[in-house]
Amino acid sequence: MNHNLNKLTFYYALWQRKCWKCKKDVIVALNVEGWSFVPGEEGELWTQKLPDWLLKHLRSLGANIHYRKTLIVKEGYYANVCPYCNAVQGEWFLREEILNYLYEKNPPNFKILEIRKEGIIRQFNSVKEANDYYFP
Ligand SMILES: [Zn+2]
Repeated sequence: MNHNLNKLTFYYALWQRKCWKCKKDVIVALNVEGWSFVPGEEGELWTQKLPDWLLKHLRSLGANIHYRKTLIVKEGYYANVCPYCNAVQGEWFLREEILNYLYEKNPPNFKILEIRKEGIIRQFNSVKEANDYYFP
């Protein structure tokens, strides 16, 4: 379960959504490694270990990720937290929401990133763009 700490490359989708509680616009980040459009093995739900450098990158991109204990995940995990009202944007909901982007050609406020310690290696503006690059 600690393999995340040694990983050199991460694949994240970032997008803007409305906080379910206060309805303000927030940016969320979801690890999409192993989904059909990026390489790698499928990542775990409710990640409990992330390298500091990755957290730094994700936060600098606007994703407000913090370790939180919730009713469903009592031991806690790195969750997307609303910066305005502190509500956790639940991972199940985010995983469902990203399905809406699978076939969108030009989704607004959505991107897929390949991230390494040195920074953002690649950026795609849609699922299709990432898919075409990694699986030509
Ligand atoms: Zn909120």
